[in-house]
Amino acid sequence: MITIHSFAFGPFQENTYILYDETKECIIIDPGCYDDQERNELVDFITTNKLKPVKLINTHCHIDHVVGNKFVSETYELKLEMNTLDKPMLDSLMMVAKMYNLKAEPSPEPSVFLNEGDVINFGNSSLEIIFTPGHSPGSITFYNKDQKFMIAGDVLFQGSIGRTDLPGGHYQTLIDSIKNKLFPLGDEYKVYNGHGNPTTIGFERMHNPFLV
Ligand SMILES: [Zn+2]
Repeated sequence: MITIHSFAFGPFQENTYILYDETKECIIIDPGCYDDQERNELVDFITTNKLKPVKLINTHCHIDHVVGNKFVSETYELKLEMNTLDKPMLDSLMMVAKMYNLKAEPSPEPSVFLNEGDVINFGNSSLEIIFTPGHSPGSITFYNKDQKFMIAGDVLFQGSIGRTDLPGGHYQTLIDSIKNKLFPLGDEYKVYNGHGNPTTIGFERMHNPFLV
């Protein structure tokens, strides 16, 4: 049974996720911890719950989702896993940080490239991957069939969708990803997103103004 814990970190209030199960192995998705206080918050949670981080994963590589990559990678000796098509985003991290006048440290290079159909294993648990580009070229979504949830990054929000005006974004591609990749998983799926509150596929299919 997977437990999901989220933190809202940094100036963009980005949702960082820790997923763990009864074995205490955990994976860290999109570490956006921005300053010492947020880094300590992340470490405290892991320590208090006696978790063992085994994977560092990015849904996509916009600055708010990767700014804690270096800290997590070094603290827990984890390699970075992501989709190869977001590598240009990762490479532009320091430039983007300068543009927004934010602090950042260069992310470690990815060691594992994740693709649709791959499975992420930790403890007794697993997540499957679907490719959901549009918000960024290499956005991927992780889902679990047994518990019917997904970690969708910035693809789909409660009542909204990811922005597509950033480099590599494409509006119709994003709409297609949501309608052709996320919706078919089923209405009962809970969607944990990159910003704001979780939602469900059913609610968004009925009420999201971008999708009805
Ligand atoms: Zn993003």
